[in-house]
Formats: sequence, structure tokens, C-alpha cells
Amino acid sequence: MSSDLSGKFMCCFCLKVIRLEEDGYAMRMRLASLSDLHTQQEMYTHSTCLKERLYGDFNVWWEE
Ligand SMILES: [Zn+2]
Repeated sequence: MSSDLSGKFMCCFCLKVIRLEEDGYAMRMRLASLSDLHTQQEMYTHSTCLKERLYGDFNVWWEE
């Protein structure tokens, strides 16, 4: 995985370093196969980068 370079978390969508002081809702995403729910991969994203890619009014936890 190249999402965590030199101890910094890289956003999987824009590849920029995630700064928690700028994005308090930045997050780790754990991808698990539906067949066994075992986590296969972890990646990181800015809250805005994820929100931009979600369908329309899809609810996200930090806006509820
Ligand atoms: Zn990003």
C-alpha cells in the first residue's frame, strides 16, 4: 500500500497528505469483502474527497 508514506496519511483520491488540523473528519476506510467481512485493505481519505464522489444526497456520518 502506498497510502501511508513516511508516516503521513495520503488521500486515496487526490494523493495529497491528509492534515487533521485542516480536515477533522478525514478518515480511514476499511474495505472488507462481503463474502466474509474480512478487512482486505485500508485507505485514507479527506472528508471532501469522499463526499464529492458519493451519489447526490448520500448521507455521511459527519453531517448527520
Ligand atoms: Zn483528498
